Amino acid sequence: MSDENYYGQKSMDRILTGTEEMQALNVRAMAIANKRKDVTPDWSIISVLRTDKEQNELWRKGRDDTGREMYTGLIVTHADGYFDKSIHQSGDATDFVPYIDGKADWHDKAAFAIIASCYYEAAMELGIRIRWGGHFTKLYDGGHIEIVR
Ligand SMILES: [Zn+2]
Repeated sequence: MSDENYYGQKSMDRILTGTEEMQALNVRAMAIANKRKDVTPDWSIISVLRTDKEQNELWRKGRDDTGREMYTGLIVTHADGYFDKSIHQSGDATDFVPYIDGKADWHDKAAFAIIASCYYEAAMELGIRIRWGGHFTKLYDGGHIEIVR
């Protein structure tokens, strides 16, 4: 049992900021990953609940003071946190990053997809509808899972 994947303390602390359903989803997804550990990478939770201010700070990345997009490569969200809210602000979304060979890997799209499949399976078991950021057309967000209400 000692070689099972599990959430570290930081990941757990972040999970606990989410809604009850989001917490259950995160826990269940990891249990499913451990059932097919041979094909599923480990991952960490980066962010769940965000305050308006935290969301706005993220939105400012790559933009000038008027909000205009200056550096497209740095744009990570279209929600400014005030007029346009992110689902993270209600605790119904989770950001994760795969760990490959003990290191966070933000570029392995296959790893993101495999982990997302664990979330989809967990969602089915729990009777929750979710959306994966890897399916977003405006901005690929492979490490993002959100609950559809
Ligand atoms: Zn997200």
